[in-house]
Amino acid sequence: MRIILFISAILLSTTIFSQTYYIPTVVHVLYFDSEEDMLSSEVENLINHVNLGLRGMSENNIVSREIFDTLWADTEIQLCLATVDEFGLLTDGIVHKEIETPIEPGDFFRTKGESTPWNTDLYLNIWVSAMGSGSESNGGIATTPTVPHSNFPNPYIGVTLNKDSYNYSQILIHEIGHFLGLEHLYFDDIDDTPCSNNAINPEPKCIPEFLTLNTCSNEEPIWNGTDPPDMIENYMEYYGNCAKMFTRGQKIKMRDYANTYYSAMINSQPNTCEIVVSSYVLDEVNTNIKVYPNPTFGEITIEHKKSFSYKIMTIYGQILEIGNGSNTLTINLHSYEKGMLFLIIEGSNNSSIYKIFKN
Ligand SMILES: [Zn+2]
Repeated sequence: MRIILFISAILLSTTIFSQTYYIPTVVHVLYFDSEEDMLSSEVENLINHVNLGLRGMSENNIVSREIFDTLWADTEIQLCLATVDEFGLLTDGIVHKEIETPIEPGDFFRTKGESTPWNTDLYLNIWVSAMGSGSESNGGIATTPTVPHSNFPNPYIGVTLNKDSYNYSQILIHEIGHFLGLEHLYFDDIDDTPCSNNAINPEPKCIPEFLTLNTCSNEEPIWNGTDPPDMIENYMEYYGNCAKMFTRGQKIKMRDYANTYYSAMINSQPNTCEIVVSSYVLDEVNTNIKVYPNPTFGEITIEHKKSFSYKIMTIYGQILEIGNGSNTLTINLHSYEKGMLFLIIEGSNNSSIYKIFKN
């Protein structure tokens, strides 16, 4: 009996830790010109992009270094556009608000004042507006319960985003990192994010020279006495176009922070939401092969006109399953952990790699 109880306790704690946190989100789109307004589909794509980043599924594979790839995490946190508003009415989670004069670069306080936040205990409020291009320090700002900006007292907790910034969807992931308690890599106290001391990157491109950056020495035991390069792949660095990952250490911090400060908000809406994985073929587009559904809750079907062999691998390179098939094959993934998996399909003279997302 004691053993059974013990096993149940382990299962229970595993289940609690791996529970996905869905954050009800309202996006306030402020526009002066009607061109600056956003279509619902654009807002949905923006939120989906953030979710791909949070769930360890970024399509941004510009930089991939072995030293960091094992630290890559699915935070099991994602944003969902609210489906019910503060008054219990159905909503699409988007507020469109016309403003009388354009917003000056960096005038985040005014942005937040133009559209009243929904209850910040229950919703993540994101204000998006076109504020002009220029200094990237004007890209976005997050205010949180522990770092309220002096100009932004409660209830202005949330994120403001300048839609004119280059790559503003990447900046939004960075700001959501702040919203979930993360700091820049220079300041943070997380072991698996190397310290770095970069100024905001004025160069919008992610170029190979950045791979040699090492602006800060690191002495954490995790690095085994070697000083790692700067983790420009990290969303909390300043190299927006290179960013594609949060680490396992950041995941723990984000989830702890959400538990502490956003417990009323997490999973408070009746819905969960799906992620759309748009480009899941990494190597090549092989029109002879169909793989569906993706994301999946447990089964994946491969349709191929020829015989093939396949491998299922974790993002850390561990092979979970090997098999063969021809025509149509359905594989059961129920016993594997949630998150991203690689499916490698090998034919007689080529192979294709797919990212599969298991919910
Ligand atoms: Zn920042």
